[in-house]
Amino acid sequence: MRGSGHINLQPRNLAVPIIVIVVVFFVAGSAIVNSTRDFYYQHVEEESRRLAISYARSLAIATEATEIVDSLLAKKLLAAGQVVAAELDHSHPRLAELATALEVDEIYSYSPQGEILSSNTGLYIGWQATPGHPVHDFMISGRDHLVEGIRQDTESDNHLKYGYFRMPDQRFVQIGVLAETVHEFLGKFEVPRLLEQMRQDQWVSCARFIDAELQLVATCTYDHLGGTNLIEQARDEIVAGREYITSTDLNGQPAYVIMLPVVVEGERIGTLMLAHDLTTTHALIRRVSQVGVVALLFMFSVMIALIYVSHKRNSDLVQSYYFDHLTGLPNRSYFNRFMQQQLELAAGDHRGALLLIECHLDLLNLTFGPQYGDAVLNECAQQLARACGPDQRLFRLAGGRLALYIESYSEQDELIGICEQVMESLRGLLQARSAEMTIGVVEIGDECLSPEKAIKRAAIAASYARREQAGGYRFFDRKMEDDLLRESVIERELHIAVDKQDEAVICLHYQPILDAQSNRVAGYEALARMNSQELGAVSPAEFIPVAERTRLIVPLGRMIVSQAFKFLKALQGQGFRDVKVFVNVSAVQLLSDDFVQDIKQTAEQVGVPTGGLVLEITESLLLENYEVTNRKLSELQSLGILVAIDDYGTGYSSLARGRELRVNCIKIDKSFIDHLLLQQPERMIAGTIIAMAHRMGHSVVAEGVESGQQLEYLRRHGCDLVQGYHFSKPLPPAEALEFLKRHNQ
Ligand code: C2E
Ligand code: CA
Ligand code: CA
Repeated sequence: MRGSGHINLQPRNLAVPIIVIVVVFFVAGSAIVNSTRDFYYQHVEEESRRLAISYARSLAIATEATEIVDSLLAKKLLAAGQVVAAELDHSHPRLAELATALEVDEIYSYSPQGEILSSNTGLYIGWQATPGHPVHDFMISGRDHLVEGIRQDTESDNHLKYGYFRMPDQRFVQIGVLAETVHEFLGKFEVPRLLEQMRQDQWVSCARFIDAELQLVATCTYDHLGGTNLIEQARDEIVAGREYITSTDLNGQPAYVIMLPVVVEGERIGTLMLAHDLTTTHALIRRVSQVGVVALLFMFSVMIALIYVSHKRNSDLVQSYYFDHLTGLPNRSYFNRFMQQQLELAAGDHRGALLLIECHLDLLNLTFGPQYGDAVLNECAQQLARACGPDQRLFRLAGGRLALYIESYSEQDELIGICEQVMESLRGLLQARSAEMTIGVVEIGDECLSPEKAIKRAAIAASYARREQAGGYRFFDRKMEDDLLRESVIERELHIAVDKQDEAVICLHYQPILDAQSNRVAGYEALARMNSQELGAVSPAEFIPVAERTRLIVPLGRMIVSQAFKFLKALQGQGFRDVKVFVNVSAVQLLSDDFVQDIKQTAEQVGVPTGGLVLEITESLLLENYEVTNRKLSELQSLGILVAIDDYGTGYSSLARGRELRVNCIKIDKSFIDHLLLQQPERMIAGTIIAMAHRMGHSVVAEGVESGQQLEYLRRHGCDLVQGYHFSKPLPPAEALEFLKRHNQ
């Protein structure tokens, strides 16, 4: 069945917030990963730069120191040369002595032609410098002195630093210091050693020094010396004297590389390259990112769980707010919303209708308990739900009220068909449990009704349906509303009149009932009259049913009986002892517990014997509550009260049962008397009724006699009593008494 699909009452779909969360999760996740990496990279960069700057400075200082030491050594060599040159004795022992004193390793004394004349070691005497040899270069240079860099000696293959000094006679001396000694001095400042020291630093995985000519002159591992295979960008930056940073793969490991120029006295002497192994950093980044992402995942899972829980709670709320617990159908709140929407639609040429299906389960609830009533209603609801068409919607409004909304229809006949279908589908179910239902229909066309008003109108129509015929349906029309309004006025005024025993509002008129043969007044029928302040004279045909529906008929009936007794007393006071007063009694009234007792008491209060009273009851009352009614009737008869069946022949004829009935008289309904005027013998059955009634021992009254022709027929057929406008209309008590005096004297 179509329950809730039409208007969306569901809380917003979960998909959207979840998609948003997932997107946010990915964005935030990648932000975490990125910022973690950025953070560590920044740290690596800062640390690398700090180290590189400090190491580059060390390198610059070392280079400067080397130069200083080198120049000191040069000065030492020159000073030593000067001392040796000034010495006249260049004998081997003397030179050895000088070498020790001057702390140099080699001293050679050369002839102006470049031949070794003497040496401190006594070696190489007579060696002659040949062109191209450094010694020869100095000899022919004409310079006073010269200090060379370290070189391998051509004779001894030892590495030495040499200084030359020329004497005035063109002889010259060569002083040499062994490279080991020089290195002892300079070692502390040597680049490879510094690089090795840098390597000791845990941060640095590799350190290299590239000279100004882009030659790799030193690495911490003493390998790959020579040309560098720098990429162009790095080469450009280095040549421009700028720092260059990159992360790359170094010996198969990820590394962070920084290249920083090493500047000595404003001149770039080379570039320091430091590499930091990123393996741990990467591991760290991975771990921190993982932790971050897991935390995020946890957070978002919690969020999703919260969203789900609140969504669930919302939909439960919606469910309990908009749906009926018992039947699972959309409820009154839903109906109101739905109707509101439909009514907005109705602004166009929409044609919808509301069927209010009232299941009257009060009796079931009373007899078997409310659970039973609920179960029956639920069955009805499910039955209807199954039968619902595609443009029909079923709601449970309250109690036994179901509403079926027809979204569109073309003809009223279509709605009638639906009403009949509904009744058909519930009939078996309800009848088996002696419950009934009625349907009120409201057509929703161009008029814009509020949901409340639509229900109210449907309820009015349903109440009309119930009044007229249980199990029926009625379409709402405006007159019903007016009638209802009028009824409520009547009800209010009746209430007041009964409370105040106001005989100005409720009084009785009396219509004479005559003996058909003697033409004497045998009795009077008391007919209630209402003079409403607001509505003027209101017919009993209108106010008696209102009193019956509201159960006001019980006190009202008591008031009427009391007035009738007073009239009876007045008649008897005037000497008319055998004139009866006929009083109409409603079913509700007769069936009320204290009815017989009340009559007795009222007669006593008025001070009149009960014997002059005839009660008129309807046939249907007898049929429906045969046992109780019959018992009450015999109680009444034991008080001398007679009983007449009113409107005889209109209901299911109870003639067959007539014999058992505690009834004294029947009043043939006016319709049979009317037929007497038609001159259609086949419809003139009043005579038959009279004969049958007589056979059963009942006397017969014919009511509604309006002409002599009717009277003539009735007389001929032996009718006992006659009543009607032919003789008199109902009269106020005083006039009725006058009529009696006139007639019976
Ligand atoms: P009813 O008991 O069948 O009363 C007869 C109705 O027919 C009366 O209408 C009466 O005025 C009218 N009538 C009498 N003779 C003629 C006639 O020759 N021609 C025509 N056309 N009508 C005639 P009324 O007084 O309007 O009462 C209508 C109904 O109201 C009564 O029908 C009765 O069922 C009910 N009623 C009246 N008074 C009481 C009452 O005190 N208690 C109860 N429970 N019902 C009452
Ligand atoms: Ca009557
Ligand atoms: Ca009647």
